[in-house]
Amino acid sequence: MPSLTIRQYGDPVLKERARDVEDIDGSVAGLVDSMVETMYAAPGTGLAANQVGVQRRIFVYDIGEGARTVINPRIVESDGEWAFDEGCLSVPGLSWEIVRPNAVHLVGLDLDGNEISVEATELEGRVFQHEIDHLDGILLVQRLDEDQRKEALKILRSRTLDLSPSDPDGLSNLFSL
Ligand SMILES: [Zn+2]
Repeated sequence: MPSLTIRQYGDPVLKERARDVEDIDGSVAGLVDSMVETMYAAPGTGLAANQVGVQRRIFVYDIGEGARTVINPRIVESDGEWAFDEGCLSVPGLSWEIVRPNAVHLVGLDLDGNEISVEATELEGRVFQHEIDHLDGILLVQRLDEDQRKEALKILRSRTLDLSPSDPDGLSNLFSL
């Protein structure tokens, strides 16, 4: 299955809310296979369907325990605070320290349509929040404080003007989601 193109900051598909999956059929399974391959090729820790242009509520992730898929994810409870240097495959080469809840309780469906319920903290909890943000049309740039956001917009604006490589030092995507 070929790798998919990861949509980049500025693409309107990243600003739209994705729709629930109603039937988990073969096309969903095929999409998930391609998403996992695309995530590993990037490389990244997580990938939401609308990052590859598909407006369905699906994300994949791997925090070092193998690839997992969550369909129609929802966070039903969150607690605490955790600061983490967060990156995004749709905003490559950049990362910012962002504070979000540490512990989250995620519910959703797996690829077989079974209900899943996961209580996660730290990196896993962060991945869940970041990917659900994507599915709601929210990018991490919208989670920055005012100073971070000014700086980010300056960089992103200059990037759309000049077409130089976005990651000249090759340091991007360490924990891109
Ligand atoms: Zn992202």
